[in-house]
Amino acid sequence: MAPETYNDLAFNVAGLLKETVGATRTHELQLPELPLDENAMASNLHGEARLLRIRTGVLVEGTVEADVTLECSRCLIGFSEPIEGSLEEEYRPLADMITGIPIGLQEGETEDDFSRISEGNILDLTELVRQSILVAVPVNPLHSPDCAGLCPECGADLNVEDCGHTRESGDPRLAGLASLLDKLD
Ligand SMILES: [Zn+2]
Ligand SMILES: [Zn+2]
Repeated sequence: MAPETYNDLAFNVAGLLKETVGATRTHELQLPELPLDENAMASNLHGEARLLRIRTGVLVEGTVEADVTLECSRCLIGFSEPIEGSLEEEYRPLADMITGIPIGLQEGETEDDFSRISEGNILDLTELVRQSILVAVPVNPLHSPDCAGLCPECGADLNVEDCGHTRESGDPRLAGLASLLDKLD
């Protein structure tokens, strides 16, 4: 048997579909880069997917990890953070492997309830991997938990310089410290 290549996220599952329910395959996932959307790029993607033969097709479970380029929501600096996504999705063939009968929807189902194995028995995990990383990206990423952000008055990066503007409405943690110091006096 020719060795399979793992340089993308698509696998031929013809062999697995011919096996009985309960049969499994484990695939290593590796990809140097995967665009997540117009703004975000995942790099050094790696992980593992377990493919389980179920009655209706193939159930995929696994995890992926990648370095994702993010923008700090306070100071707008670009930084990279490892993000882990978890995979779980059912894939169904377009037609039964043996009989050739098309596999339609069961009662109460929509096409959104599962993904399809494409023609040629190719199970492509790219979209599943992309979505799993995207949903794990923090909504308001911080390049550091104590990022000081930008001065609201002049826009200076307060992590690297003190522009001298007073921050009267400033950080509640500093306000707490100030009142504590008052008490000590
Ligand atoms: Zn920051
Ligand atoms: Zn300032």
